[in-house]
Amino acid sequence: MKYPPALQMAIDRLSRLPTVGPKTAERFAFYLLRRPANEIQDLATALLDLHQNLTHCQRCCAIAAANPCSLCTDATRNTALLCVVAETKDMIALENSGQYQGRYHILNGTISAIQADNLDHLTIKQLLQQLRRPEIKELILAFNPDVEGETTALYLAKLLSTSNISITRLARGLPAGASLDYADPMTLSHALHNRSRIK
Ligand SMILES: [Zn+2]
Repeated sequence: MKYPPALQMAIDRLSRLPTVGPKTAERFAFYLLRRPANEIQDLATALLDLHQNLTHCQRCCAIAAANPCSLCTDATRNTALLCVVAETKDMIALENSGQYQGRYHILNGTISAIQADNLDHLTIKQLLQQLRRPEIKELILAFNPDVEGETTALYLAKLLSTSNISITRLARGLPAGASLDYADPMTLSHALHNRSRIK
């Protein structure tokens, strides 16, 4: 026997979310069913807003409320520093460390060995565009301390080997295999402060 269509539809949709299987989706649907209608409305609005009220900053490629984003247009930031991260959430983690005053570039992923020859998803073109700004003196590579992060850092260092910009990376101190957005602000700020020079 099946659930009424509206309930079954909610279960089906919820079960498409990452790490949510049919049983969890069923639990979510019943939980939502018990909540007041206005709460569900708020949730639905928040989900719709993800598409309607967000954009990508054309300069740094971050997910943002405006294009260009507030960070790219903030005149108080140190424009000599550009920090490259894989995802917008890594930028947020570094911002929360309170130790970084420069600008960012979001690469939109990292390079894995499997798709090393297909880099179309990465915002490398936009990064090169950002690097045309003569005030940039240092590029900080801030990727997760894993194989993909390593591969990406080496790729970018090689790509930019002939530029005048010095390239640094976060200090090792982040636990291997950990991800940046899970590191505590103290660890991140230490990794940033003790960054090492690649070029
Ligand atoms: Zn931006």
